[in-house]
Amino acid sequence: MTVKINFRCIGCGICEHIAPNSFRLDDAKGVSVVQSQIVTDATKKAEELCPVNAIKIDLPEQSIE
Ligand code: SF4
Repeated sequence: MTVKINFRCIGCGICEHIAPNSFRLDDAKGVSVVQSQIVTDATKKAEELCPVNAIKIDLPEQSIE
């Protein structure tokens, strides 16, 4: 599984609020960075709720084909 944040991130901080173990807002860069590749329910929730769809979680079953 791979957790990524792409260029769309606007640094709103929602992901850090929802899943602080997975994401951290980098104040200097103004965007969020991935903290851990361990995917929890909170990580998935953050992916769902990111307002600009900047979070991508690649699950193994999605990369078979
Ligand atoms: S929720 Fe999305 S836009 Fe907001 S900081 Fe996280 S990755 Fe960036």
